[in-house]
Amino acid sequence: MKRFGFYGRLSTDDKQDQTLARPSQLEACQRKAQELGGEITCEFFDQESGAKDDRPGWTALTQEARDKSTRRFDGVVIYQTSRLSRDRVSAGLFHRELRKVGVQIHYAIGAGDPSTAEGGLMIALQQAFDEYERAKLSRETKRGMRQTALQGFRCGGRPPYGYRLERSPHPVAARAKAGEFKTRLEPDGNAVVVAEIFHLWADKGWGCQAIADHLNRPGGPPSPSHVDPKRNVKGNWAKSTIRAMLRNPTYTGRLVWNRLDFATQREAGGTARLRARDEWVISEVEHLPLISDDLFTAAQERFRQRSRRVGARNGQASYLFTGMVRCCSGHQPLAMYGRKRKEHVYLTCDYGRTYGKVAADEIGGHGQWLSIREDALLPLVEKFFADRIFGPMRLEKLARQLRAHQKTTQQQSSTRQRQLRDDIADLDRRIGLQIQALEQGIEPELIGQRIADLRKAKEEGEIELRALTPAAPDSNADEDPAALLARIPNLTQALQDSPPEIKRQVFDAFGLQITYDKTNRRIEISATISEAVAEALDNAKSLPQEALDHSLVAPRDIAGAGFEPATFGL
Ligand SMILES: [Zn+2]
Repeated sequence: MKRFGFYGRLSTDDKQDQTLARPSQLEACQRKAQELGGEITCEFFDQESGAKDDRPGWTALTQEARDKSTRRFDGVVIYQTSRLSRDRVSAGLFHRELRKVGVQIHYAIGAGDPSTAEGGLMIALQQAFDEYERAKLSRETKRGMRQTALQGFRCGGRPPYGYRLERSPHPVAARAKAGEFKTRLEPDGNAVVVAEIFHLWADKGWGCQAIADHLNRPGGPPSPSHVDPKRNVKGNWAKSTIRAMLRNPTYTGRLVWNRLDFATQREAGGTARLRARDEWVISEVEHLPLISDDLFTAAQERFRQRSRRVGARNGQASYLFTGMVRCCSGHQPLAMYGRKRKEHVYLTCDYGRTYGKVAADEIGGHGQWLSIREDALLPLVEKFFADRIFGPMRLEKLARQLRAHQKTTQQQSSTRQRQLRDDIADLDRRIGLQIQALEQGIEPELIGQRIADLRKAKEEGEIELRALTPAAPDSNADEDPAALLARIPNLTQALQDSPPEIKRQVFDAFGLQITYDKTNRRIEISATISEAVAEALDNAKSLPQEALDHSLVAPRDIAGAGFEPATFGL
């Protein structure tokens, strides 16, 4: 019987999350230990609290691990990679520390079997995602806060949705006399919409797209389109607008930002560190809050949780594709919701609920609800990743697609060129006729303007024709996507074998988008390869090599290290 030590960790801001409570972590780890043919023989736990800044549990575990003769375990089980550390480098060091004394770390959810090359890569991949998400989130939040406090409204910038700018004469009499004003944010008639958005997100658990769809209902509240009508021509609520609003601390009426460093606290434990005063961002404007601090904190917490772990939430079913699939069967694209019915998970478009039964019945084959099974969609998505992103033929396929695109563009351009040449020839002919008339004795004043107009039209045609002529293929344009794509290792098999949590993370990282059009029997799948993801995967490729780089590793492990795309899983 193999003996496993359980290691768990709970930080102050994980407390709202029930699945991370100590009993839940332990229970999942016990299941994993049984799966591996053993049992949990001892427990180590770190509960980060205000007073301590180290990890006594982890220290005790590593100390015990060093003495083979007295230790109570041969392996360690941890709930998920982020419990060890959300920082990839420390996670790598922790792994190495235990590996040196022959103790392997297993994860209860996500991640893979650490004794295989593919499993090692999946673990490294997940650690890379943990770190990437954390860095991205803290960067975005910080940027948003700075912008809001520094230039969001102070110097007469546009007010956030739900507020209007109230101008009053400057309190300093001399400046008031000179015509200066002081501006202040006052809640306007839409303030209640802001409260509803935060409520739907933080209390009800709706997604940004679902909230946008809800607000876009006929007779719904006006969108903030007046702010920038050029970018939002339809005047609709957009998912990105909702997200930006949920991140905007202005709605709490708070004054000082960036005062405490919570990120360092999460990693190192202890209390939040107070930043140097010159890092603080202080707003000079006071205004009425539209939502409470508690609601704002809950909203930010949900962003953090969603980014880290989109798996099972409080025992609910996990949905692989929630927020990624949209229905456009005879109507404008609408988000499809995940829901479980009997054994299967479905993605459902409830067009009928939003727009009424009559409108829904008018679309042939739609009805009030239109559903597609998740397990019908998954093979298509896996095939898409295998063909287009991970597989050996992906570069050829991308090149073919780019060529086809270029050909269409070229065809369009040469059709236009022919048309322009015809037009110019026709204009020449008509100018010729006018000149002929001149020669036959017509008064120049009568046709002078006519000739000038025709010449101007001809000149315009010639300018457009010149712009179209160098239709040579733009060789720089197709270098970038191919170069990014070439850096992605082949994860086809690893993706197929991985549990739903990892699948979901991979889909998220690649910005997977699916549109379903039942009317035309069409499913469109697209993905985005960002520089950040290409880099995370590059890092993931190199990490196992670093972790394996010491004397205790068997030679066959070293042969598998490095994970060159060309030799991995092809
Ligand atoms: Zn629909």
